[in-house]
Amino acid sequence: MLGAIDLGGTKIEACVFDPQLQALQRQRRATPHGSYAELLDAIVQQCLWLQTQAGNAQLPIGIGIPGLIDRRSGLSTTANLAAMGRPLQADLSARLGRHIAVENDCKCFALSEAQGGAGQGHGVVFGLILGTGVGGGVCTQGELMLHHNGLSGEVGHIALPAQCVAQWGLPVIRCGCGRTGCYETYVSGPGMTRLCKHLTGQALSAPEIVQGNAHGDPLLQSVFGVWVSLLCELLHTVQLVVDPDCVVFGGGLSRIPALAEHVARAFPSHQLSGLRAPHFTSATFGDSSGVRGAAILAQRLISS
Ligand SMILES: [Zn+2]
Repeated sequence: MLGAIDLGGTKIEACVFDPQLQALQRQRRATPHGSYAELLDAIVQQCLWLQTQAGNAQLPIGIGIPGLIDRRSGLSTTANLAAMGRPLQADLSARLGRHIAVENDCKCFALSEAQGGAGQGHGVVFGLILGTGVGGGVCTQGELMLHHNGLSGEVGHIALPAQCVAQWGLPVIRCGCGRTGCYETYVSGPGMTRLCKHLTGQALSAPEIVQGNAHGDPLLQSVFGVWVSLLCELLHTVQLVVDPDCVVFGGGLSRIPALAEHVARAFPSHQLSGLRAPHFTSATFGDSSGVRGAAILAQRLISS
């Protein structure tokens, strides 16, 4: 058995997996936003629940978090959690008496889709999360590429090119990361709403825009077209830097019907001529992909 936890801004989901990575049981609890000690307690309680369900006090456990862990200092960078600058992994490992694997949730997603998911069989898989935020992870031959800061794939904080801003006269706004004009402010769910407000005067939600596009509303078709175009610009940059042969979409916006087909049609006009486009696809494991990736981290603890 394997234990996995998806630590989010609103909930902490614990899930027991069998050795073949089939999910057996889940339990969710709200994420406390008071003190770091409360957050730590809540995660430990979920770990103890996993151990009880699995009947194993030494259950291997992997945790996906919405932030980064500094490889050298072990400190967490988590903007939306009470663990900023704290040694979360070391503290959890100390409380539970063994090493607990902790990794960025976008990286867990990429790992899950590269191993037995939509990226299975591809050499270089780029997992791109399109949700409230935009993030990603890179896997080569099924293994995560983490590099110097464990950062590879955090493409949401690349700035949109000036020619895109100029073409549609887009507003350049401040991002949660402290910089301005990041892709995340345009191609996330809230970013799509922002585009809609700018182009039509109406701040419609992403599902409303997607539905309007599907029903042939010309204004919303143009909003959706601009959004796909900006996403393709981001993927062009990903191609130049990483050159993946497969891109897997995850997050709430990956549920847009035929998203991969929309992107595959638009992408060739954004890439340099003569190149082969990557295979675009949506996640096999949907919203559960991140926690499944955390289970793969737990699996690695056994083999390491
Ligand atoms: Zn940013």
